[in-house]
Amino acid sequence: MGAWIVFSRRILRSGRPLAGGRRSAVTSSLFAFAIVVTLVTVFILTALDRIADFANRQDDARSRETTVGALHTFQEQLHATLNDYAAWDDAAQFVYAGDQAWTVSNYGDMTVNSDLFDVAVVMDAKRRVLMAYQDGKPVNWTPDSYFDSSLWTLFDLARTDRPDASPEQVGFTRTHDGVAATGVALIRMKSGMIDKPAGERLFLIFARHLDARKVAVLETTYNVSGLRFAEGGEVTKNIAEIRNLHGLLLSRLTWASRLPGDLGYREVRPLVYGALAMVGLFFLLLFINGTNRLSRLTADEAAARQLAVRDRLSGLLNRSGLFGSLEEMVAQAGGKGQHVALLYLDLDGFKEVNDAYGHGTGDQLIRGVAAGLKALVGGNAQLARVGGDEFAIAICGDDPLKDAGILSDRILGFFDEPFVIGERVATVGTSIGIAASPRGKVSGDELVRRADMAMYRAKENGRGRAEYYHPDMDAEREVRNQLELDLRIAIERRELTIVYQPVVSANSWRLVGVEALVRWERKGYGPVPPEVFIPIAESTGLIDQLGLFVLHRACETGLRWEGLKIAVNVSPGQFRDPAFALHVQSVFRKTGMDPARVTLEMTEGYFIQNPARARAAIAKLRHLGVSIALDDFGAGFSSIGYLRQFGFDRMKIDKSLVKALEEGGRSAEAMQATVALAKALDMPVTAEGVENENLARQLQISGCDELQGYFFGQPMSVEEMDRHYFQQPGSGRTLRG
Ligand code: C2E
Ligand code: CA
Ligand code: CA
Repeated sequence: MGAWIVFSRRILRSGRPLAGGRRSAVTSSLFAFAIVVTLVTVFILTALDRIADFANRQDDARSRETTVGALHTFQEQLHATLNDYAAWDDAAQFVYAGDQAWTVSNYGDMTVNSDLFDVAVVMDAKRRVLMAYQDGKPVNWTPDSYFDSSLWTLFDLARTDRPDASPEQVGFTRTHDGVAATGVALIRMKSGMIDKPAGERLFLIFARHLDARKVAVLETTYNVSGLRFAEGGEVTKNIAEIRNLHGLLLSRLTWASRLPGDLGYREVRPLVYGALAMVGLFFLLLFINGTNRLSRLTADEAAARQLAVRDRLSGLLNRSGLFGSLEEMVAQAGGKGQHVALLYLDLDGFKEVNDAYGHGTGDQLIRGVAAGLKALVGGNAQLARVGGDEFAIAICGDDPLKDAGILSDRILGFFDEPFVIGERVATVGTSIGIAASPRGKVSGDELVRRADMAMYRAKENGRGRAEYYHPDMDAEREVRNQLELDLRIAIERRELTIVYQPVVSANSWRLVGVEALVRWERKGYGPVPPEVFIPIAESTGLIDQLGLFVLHRACETGLRWEGLKIAVNVSPGQFRDPAFALHVQSVFRKTGMDPARVTLEMTEGYFIQNPARARAAIAKLRHLGVSIALDDFGAGFSSIGYLRQFGFDRMKIDKSLVKALEEGGRSAEAMQATVALAKALDMPVTAEGVENENLARQLQISGCDELQGYFFGQPMSVEEMDRHYFQQPGSGRTLRG
């Protein structure tokens, strides 16, 4: 049974594989979560980096614009100064007049310590120098050697007479001392007028050198940090070029990138990291919370699963639990070359206890049975409660059928003892069906079906026993199923017939009544005995229809035999229908039969099973005016003492008791005592199964007032009965007289 132990452990842990699956799900979602957080961080940092880079480039562009603008302004300032000095009425007068003193003091001397210009030259139209000063001193250079050639381009532009050309031209030049904003202007009146011909005109040249000191001033004035001249081969992206009119590169200014983006980025980064950390933390908490919830849900789910396969009352597996277990058990046994056996138990007499003592006691009984079975089967078997009073036990091993046999003996022994429930004592038995699945070849479902079928056989064979499944049972079941089908059809088509058996007075042997007995001529098979088809009708519910059909027919037919009593058999199954009395009443109404002529015959079964309800049902029926007879007395177990409470109108002694009379012994005295007791309780007695005159006499002497049996007449058709009835009209109707 080793396989079984492994199996049962698996069952107990049925939540486990699921939990393992969840854990790997948790790990993978944690992984996904980490990836998402990393990606988000990368995205945000990249975005910030781009913003910083953009801001840096913007700032550099602004610095370039500013520098270029500063250079332009530098040049324009010179232009403005040049305009002030060249378009000047005094200059037009004195310079053209050749006043060297005026020229030196107003132009040459002004070059010292001036921020506006540091070189001043006066030339005539033929480029002859009339005066040249630098930093307050006369120079010893010629403009040709001092300036680059673009000076002459400026000069020529300023000199032209074209009306669209400006008489002032400005541009950067290279000088002997460096780079300078240089301007050439025609000396003229403030109004622009000059009355000299082109060849006699004079020109003023100013240069304003851009040196490191001036660049430093620009740096602070224009707020371009680190503004300076670039070294010769210096490679940098921050460049503002200074070119002369010819496009020749004179010099380059460069500056330091302020990198405001980097600055901002650096500033913001801790905040961003903080925010990301917080968001990460938030999601982590959310995630942990979710995971906790998930695991709680998983636990709940596992618990619910456990509940779903457990029977609440007994704590054993329930039906679906059993099916689940069996399926696995059979599969495992198959793998190991072992076998599974299933015992299917149905309690005998449980309903009676339940009905008599109530559901509370019934529940306690079930718990007691469950506990007892648990102790008997031990830990190696699987025990389940599969229905109200049905249990199943699955065992696995090398010879489980042998084990099942031993176990069922012990179980039957256990049920021999009555159960003590509080102050009550209840006796229940059990019927057991056993089936096997060799090497897992029979599925769990089929195993249950087979064991169930064997259990029914145990019930049929007298209860309180065990039966092993045999394939013949299937064939028999098939036969029974077919029989049931045919019976159903026969009832629907009203193919059943009724025969009537005479009942005579014990003293005169005169016909006093008939008992209606149903007959079925099954198509293709012949007559089926009522002992065969009545139980089938009872177990399938067909009995309600069948019973009312017989009652209806019998009442209808009985109308022709005026004065005779009509006895009709009623099954316990019909009696359980709460509407039964109503149905009976409607039959009387429809047929016009006088209820006082009708006797319903019932066996003791239902009165033992449910005394209270039986009493109430009898009361209702008697209220209609019918009589109730206790049928088959002596075939069951009850005493007259017990049955008197129901107030039967008549008692029918079973033919088995009558038959016993012929065998002699003490049966005659027993019969006499029984009849005497019944009469003392005001119950007249009918004896059935009277087959000869001797018995008839004996029973008459015993005190029976009515007799029934083959001696007086077999159950017969209506026509035959007519003959009996009408044979001796008036004083007649004596049978066997
Ligand atoms: P029961 O109510 O005990 O009916 C009497 C049975 O004894 C009848 O068998 C009858 O044929 C038989 N019998 C009569 N006299 C003698 C005799 O002298 N010797 C012997 N050996 N037997 C005799 P039957 O008709 O086969 O009915 C069997 C049982 O089927 C009945 O037993 C009754 O319990 C049931 N049954 C028959 N018809 C109906 C019905 O319409 N409804 C219900 N619920 N049960 C019915
Ligand atoms: Ca009867
Ligand atoms: Ca009988």
